[in-house]
Amino acid sequence: TLKDKTALVTGSTSGIGLGIARSLAAAGANIMLNGFGELEQINAIRADLEKEFGVKTAYHNADMSQAAQIAAMMEVAMQEFGGVDVLVNNAGIQHVANIEDFPVEKWDAIIAINLTSAFHTTRLALPSMKAKNWGRIINLASVHGLVASAQKSAYVAAKHGLVGFTKTTALETAHTGITCNAICPGWVLTPLVQKQVDARALAEGLSNEDAKKSLLAEKQPSGEFVTPEQLGALAVFFCSEAGNQIRGVAWNMDGGWVAQ
Ligand code: NAD
Repeated sequence: TLKDKTALVTGSTSGIGLGIARSLAAAGANIMLNGFGELEQINAIRADLEKEFGVKTAYHNADMSQAAQIAAMMEVAMQEFGGVDVLVNNAGIQHVANIEDFPVEKWDAIIAINLTSAFHTTRLALPSMKAKNWGRIINLASVHGLVASAQKSAYVAAKHGLVGFTKTTALETAHTGITCNAICPGWVLTPLVQKQVDARALAEGLSNEDAKKSLLAEKQPSGEFVTPEQLGALAVFFCSEAGNQIRGVAWNMDGGWVAQ
């Protein structure tokens, strides 16, 4: 159980981050949410978590591309909860284009949000984790941390980088009660992926349902989406005692994507 522990999940106002926050709350953790969105909606998410699971919640709107805002958020976590025990680096964005057409500012934003933000949260979370000699750092990489797809240069570079950063973090904490691992999902039907479904429907003149099927058929042998709930259950497992010696892995949950 994660009772009396605090989890910070970056990018948890939507999709996978929200699913993982819910699973960690169900396991008893207090939750610090982060991400963009309407305050009213975010307050509703907080109220639901508090009522359903009897945990405390907080929200910080730090833009994960901004080091100073990340530092401010970590400071608030320290003041409100005495530090972050479970750090889930999940915030991420995607942009799909050939390298020669790739907007330079999109490249910079993807590297900042999908990779560099994890360096900042990790370096700022480690001192209090080390003081307690317990911690869990879970980095949401992707199958694109293990293999590539065309037109996703920045994303693939950032996610491969995040898997590498995960391994270094695991080694530097190997003699402590802190573990660091990456989760590598295949397709999960979130707003990030729905945009790619919409683009395919438009390009190929397909219905929404057929565009989803075509997207899955290309890469994901199960033909089914991975769900935020399944990813949340894996995160909770990493937090359990059984996870004490799971260190530095990049665990894919991908319907068979990288088995091919
Ligand atoms: P999503 O778009 O549903 O959610 C992204 C979250 O990140 C939102 O809460 C958003 O507000 C937040 N966010 C975006 N930019 C931010 C910024 N600058 N600062 C703070 N928060 C920011 O996406 P998702 O599909 O749930 O993706 C979550 C993570 O999982 C990402 O790292 C993504 O790369 C990874 N992932 C997703 C899939 C998939 O199929 N959906 C597959 C593999 C990996």
